[in-house]
Amino acid sequence: MASRQRLTILGATGSIGVNTLDVVARHPERFEVVALSANNQVDRLFKQCLLARPRYAVVGDAAAAQSLQRRLREAGVATEVLTGADALCMIASLPEIDTVMAAIVGAAGLAPTLAAVKSGKKVLLANKEALVMAGAVFMAEVRRNQASLLPIDSEHNAVFQSLPRDFDGSLDGAGVRRVVLTASGGPFRDTPVGELDAVTPDQACAHPNWVMGRKISVDSATLMNKGLEVIEAHWLFGAPPSRIDVVIHRESVVHSMVEYADGSVIAQLGNPDMRTPIAHGLAYPERIEAGVAPLDLCAIGRLSFERPDVSRFPCLPLAYAALDRGGTAPASLNAANEVAVAAFLAGELAFRRIPDVIAEVLACVAHRAADTLDAVIAADGEARIAARALILQWGRRVS
Ligand code: NAD
Ligand code: MG
Repeated sequence: MASRQRLTILGATGSIGVNTLDVVARHPERFEVVALSANNQVDRLFKQCLLARPRYAVVGDAAAAQSLQRRLREAGVATEVLTGADALCMIASLPEIDTVMAAIVGAAGLAPTLAAVKSGKKVLLANKEALVMAGAVFMAEVRRNQASLLPIDSEHNAVFQSLPRDFDGSLDGAGVRRVVLTASGGPFRDTPVGELDAVTPDQACAHPNWVMGRKISVDSATLMNKGLEVIEAHWLFGAPPSRIDVVIHRESVVHSMVEYADGSVIAQLGNPDMRTPIAHGLAYPERIEAGVAPLDLCAIGRLSFERPDVSRFPCLPLAYAALDRGGTAPASLNAANEVAVAAFLAGELAFRRIPDVIAEVLACVAHRAADTLDAVIAADGEARIAARALILQWGRRVS
């Protein structure tokens, strides 16, 4: 029997992490979980450790680590509990693992995901923010260390599946004209623009087709998620912004498409269930059962496509503009967005102000080359400070 694929799952307690453990549990003969991480959902991580019995578990703070270690010992589980950013990088680069699922949300995922890449692992990339922030550095390290990078984001996984198996990063070489990313349009696709001022975090997180973490759910409601995905597609597939299109597709059945020079369009379809791209990445190039219901196109009846309304969704053009600008602009965009979304979720910023914060930050911070990690981290920090200052100022003006 071939040896089992040994995994670290970063962000195990999140939506992607839970779906990954679900797929893994269906194939105990194929996969072995070596390490899991969570920020502060200790109860959930405890239960995951009871089932998966990893060698390591990493949590965000020392008090949580202590209590988790005690509970695991009492339950007779030998998992060693660690804490902190270094421990995340350590479990992402263990010599005994083959594969890392990078499913921490936001910039916090950059360092451990990069550690996995630098140790030449197979990296299943859900944490799109890492690539948006540091695409040039990230892709250079993928090449230098011969890591394999497999996209888990459903759109990029669909594009990957629709490209030739031997795709070498040249769209022209593969006869590709453009990449078309689909977007559901989120919960506010039909809400009158005037009503967007009053929407609540729970409304923004009630996605019509997907169940996801709160940050990406808000990003889907503003369409910044699609903007981040345009930048992600640029780095993954070597596509200039002019060759990445976005269409609104309400049903979330066509996960994305590749258009070729001869007019052929190849798409990947399926039910909106992240276990499909997760299973694809885990088993690639094989195919395994993922627990996903078969697609019933006759029950769905019709598939619709529309152009995005950029006046309703100003985050999408902001992301294209940051990509055009290049350098640290996408890192600044991402950081400003993370701060604005956190403020919205905390009730400190109106939904419609999210793009205003990002636009203002992009207009006021310096843009530099993004060829070192230090430059990226400095830009991220500067944009966060600028965004927080604006939110404080605007918050006062409202009250
Ligand atoms: P989530 O909020 O459900 O889970 C996030 C995970 O990261 C949790 O395990 C949490 O404990 C951990 N985490 C959060 N902050 C952390 C920090 N500061 N340090 C260490 N760990 C931290 O998010 P999610 O929906 O699973 O999304 C995870 C990533 O995958 C995001 O980058 C998202 O954009 C991407 N993604 C998600 C989906 C989806 O369907 N959920 C689809 C495509 C891409
Ligand atoms: Mg996506």
